[in-house]
Amino acid sequence: MSTVAAYAAPAAKAALERTTIKRRPVGEFDVLIEIKYAGICHSDIHQAREGWGEAIFPMVPGHEIAGVVAEVGSGVTKYAVGDRVGVGCFVDSCRECEYCKQGLEQYCVRGNIATYNGLDKNGEPTYGGYSTHIVVDENYVLRIPDSLSLDVAAPLLCAGVTTYSPLKHWNAGPGKKVAILGMGGLGHMGVKIAHALGAEVTVLSQSLRKKDDGLKLGADHYYATSDPKTFESLAGTFDLVLSTVSAPLDFGAYLALLKTDGTLVNVGAPEEPISLNLFPLIGGRKSLAGSMIGGIPETQEMLDFCAQHGLGAEIELIRADQINEAYERVLSSDVRYRFVIDIATI
Ligand code: NAP
Ligand code: ZN
Ligand code: ZN
Repeated sequence: MSTVAAYAAPAAKAALERTTIKRRPVGEFDVLIEIKYAGICHSDIHQAREGWGEAIFPMVPGHEIAGVVAEVGSGVTKYAVGDRVGVGCFVDSCRECEYCKQGLEQYCVRGNIATYNGLDKNGEPTYGGYSTHIVVDENYVLRIPDSLSLDVAAPLLCAGVTTYSPLKHWNAGPGKKVAILGMGGLGHMGVKIAHALGAEVTVLSQSLRKKDDGLKLGADHYYATSDPKTFESLAGTFDLVLSTVSAPLDFGAYLALLKTDGTLVNVGAPEEPISLNLFPLIGGRKSLAGSMIGGIPETQEMLDFCAQHGLGAEIELIRADQINEAYERVLSSDVRYRFVIDIATI
């Protein structure tokens, strides 16, 4: 057991502050990672404020982790000291169910073990990436390709794979019209990845404030959803709409933007339920779907894809003592496009 520095929320909605936590000893198949960077995902904020229901405190958030291997257990074969690695939203799963066997650990029947705000196999709380070190079983560690710097790679571990997985699953690619709804942490990666996959990409954002950025990141078109004309001119346009919005939305209005047989995939996780007008779904044989992060093999595939296409996140690097301020800025959609904590400042 070792004691390491971390930033934690002591209680729901409380400001995060510096503290220390215990990490388990490095077991036979474990990797000890010296964390260099941790991204701030909107999910960190939902959970630290108990927006999704009861949570475990103190909470050390952070599931976009990039660092370097500092020690390996005697049975570890995949990683060696000095390797550049990442950890995403979960650190273990049952390994036996039909989904784990297919590398879809995110949908583990018994529930995967969340990187933080979860309980490990011994019933101890898990603590995430806003800390100097983490111990993780080698099967749940990802390799970060050399050509990606660790700071811009960190957000790929959640924002990258959460957009890559549905874009691949619903065949975003040449000849497909894809809309990315919301241009925050997830959304801006969705734009980059959909463009790299060859799709024609449209951003649907609340305003045109980030239009220049969106076009630079790979969007072909950019519209403001605050303008009612957007919904008139784009009716029946898209094969796929990917919603990354963190707040409840009128999905009926976005279903109307799909072509016949089109799909609206939601990855946003708002704290409140929505009510939905089903008529746009019926008229056009449309699908409304959801998607959660990605499994270990697909997360590695995404990292390799991003390296091949030179895609990292657009980040604002912050000190650990700026985390609370960053949370407020994320909540007011004032993020361009991911805050990343320089863990050396903890
Ligand atoms: P983020 O950086 O805050 O981005 C969310 C974007 O949604 C904002 O930048 C904004 O884009 C838009 N938005 C926010 N409030 C809105 C409102 N009231 N109406 C319309 N648009 C609004 O958050 P994120 O880190 O990308 O995460 C987005 C959501 O995905 C969160 O709910 C998070 O918990 C969830 N998530 C889900 C998964 C999964 O596996 N499914 C994984 C990670 C995160 P514009 O300024 O462009 O309008
Ligand atoms: Zn996340
Ligand atoms: Zn399983």
